[in-house]
Amino acid sequence: MTSGKAIVLPIRYPRELLRAFGFEPVEIWGPPKVEGTLGGSHLQPYICSVVKNALSFLLEDGLDDAEIILVPHCCDSLQGLGSLLLDFIKPKQKVLTFYPPRNKTEAAKNFLIAEIERLWKELEEITGKSPSQQDLMRCILEEEMADRLTRELYMNRERIGLSSREFIELLRKREYLHPKEFAKEVQDKLKITKEKEEKVRLILSGVLPEPMEVLDEIDAAGGMIVTDDTSCLRRRLLQPGTSNRPFERMAERLLSAPPDPVLGCSLEERIAFLEKLIEESNAVGVIFYNVKFCEGEDFYYPQVAQWLKSRGIKTLKIEADISPPLPKQVSQRIRAFIESLGGRA
Ligand code: SF4
Repeated sequence: MTSGKAIVLPIRYPRELLRAFGFEPVEIWGPPKVEGTLGGSHLQPYICSVVKNALSFLLEDGLDDAEIILVPHCCDSLQGLGSLLLDFIKPKQKVLTFYPPRNKTEAAKNFLIAEIERLWKELEEITGKSPSQQDLMRCILEEEMADRLTRELYMNRERIGLSSREFIELLRKREYLHPKEFAKEVQDKLKITKEKEEKVRLILSGVLPEPMEVLDEIDAAGGMIVTDDTSCLRRRLLQPGTSNRPFERMAERLLSAPPDPVLGCSLEERIAFLEKLIEESNAVGVIFYNVKFCEGEDFYYPQVAQWLKSRGIKTLKIEADISPPLPKQVSQRIRAFIESLGGRA
């Protein structure tokens, strides 16, 4: 059952639902190489470059052949973008919204099931299709399989010896690849075994590592991203659901996501998750690589950094736009930070 491409904005949504209708979700986190001025002319100056670039991209008819645009309400800026597209810009594609709840209570689960059902009905109207429950469950299981392999990749991160950029680029292929194609690429990489190298073990936190040159800088300074706490990757790594009812299972999965400050998690949840990442990765430092004007990340930083300090973990906080080039000052700060942790001088 094919329907065409679906442009999807960050952060969380039920991928399997779009796939069950034959859509090929292509996520746009920016994109970074788009000039944000055109989008910026419709937005307040304090809106982040992810939203600015995304709007420029859409106004310039990027992914012109897409049939729908899905805008999850994951932050105020994304909600604003959704309203702008729906009420003013009105692109030729049908614009859909999705509202993930901010907590994990029973009420949140029921709300999420109703939200998934609403999206389902809208997709039925747009496509004139109604996938069977078996089709939907098959798509759910394919996504669960891709999540399981992603976890395996994180567990074997050091053995396979990819550079930070190769590792993150591989994981981010999930933003556009079918889960089966993604699984094939991950399985191929899992066959590799390389000799362990002495590197400064780091966790990357934030929304997304763009421009990707930031990862090259980390490696050049003798560092290695051993795991991440980013909205585009690890904070979206879901657990398998248990229910045999597809809508409920999708809701269970989405609610199993690690805490994301952008979505208003508690400080305690955030600290517990970072503790888990530190324990499983033996990291000695955390780089908070934040997108300028992304307030959700900023609110938590002082307390999280204080806790990390008390835990003996060094931190570096950087704020940057997602568009290249990476500012020289950012490269210098990364190098100095890694050097202070025993990396290359
Ligand atoms: S970078 Fe922050 S403010 Fe911008 S879209 Fe992402 S979550 Fe929202």
